[in-house]
Amino acid sequence: LDGAVKYNRVMLKISGEALMGDLGYGLHPPTVERVAREIKAVHDLGVEICMVIGGGNIFRGLQGSAQGMERTTADYMGMLATVMNALAMQAALESLGVFTRVISAIPMDQVCEPYIRRRAVRHLEKKRVCIFAAGTGNPYFTTDTAAALRASEMACEAIFMGKNVDGIYDSDPKINPDAKRYDDISYDDVLQRNLKVMDASAIALCRDNRMPLVVFALSEPGGFQGIMAGRGTYTIVH
Ligand code: UDP
Repeated sequence: LDGAVKYNRVMLKISGEALMGDLGYGLHPPTVERVAREIKAVHDLGVEICMVIGGGNIFRGLQGSAQGMERTTADYMGMLATVMNALAMQAALESLGVFTRVISAIPMDQVCEPYIRRRAVRHLEKKRVCIFAAGTGNPYFTTDTAAALRASEMACEAIFMGKNVDGIYDSDPKINPDAKRYDDISYDDVLQRNLKVMDASAIALCRDNRMPLVVFALSEPGGFQGIMAGRGTYTIVH
């Protein structure tokens, strides 16, 4: 059925940079609001939404360890950065009237909820957008692995990776004008061709749990809503 919503429960993964706008660092409030509106449009369709937001707009563990900081310490700083982004997204969604919960893998009770799987599921059933923060709670992982893990735990039907480009290309479309977009591709091909979609452990987790991955342009207005109805261009990994 064209136009009908094809999903009941989804995971939306965005990088921290998606909230940065044209700034070189941090949060750009109009951009956060624009992304929140895209999410609200999908929420209004009745879709249950999980979210994982990266932290790269504020801090990346690898950056810190390159500057001589111990890797684990730097990674914890990166996880804290994701909590800041999650709180910003929560504020933006709630100002649009969408109820949310920020759920952290690292307990910080005054700030947000700790992660308790069954409680998170209940929030989703009550149509609250669940923003999973602090990644997996472990150093040496990324928010991509967190998205793959939580999507499986929450029994999401697919992970939607909101990017600046409308899918996975065989080479960088910003550099190569002849780059070709894949309509669909297997996890193994993504790994073998070393395509930059998610890090390898996240891809492997998706593959092992048969979690489809949809890469689409969140930068396209109405893009997320369109993808929910099977419109627009995207790449599906399965
Ligand atoms: N991080 C971590 N464990 C996790 C998730 C994240 O240690 O489970 C740290 C890691 O240092 C990472 C940073 O948090 O560099 C920010 O996350 P990520 O790089 O995935 O953000 P994105 O690139 O998506 O903005």
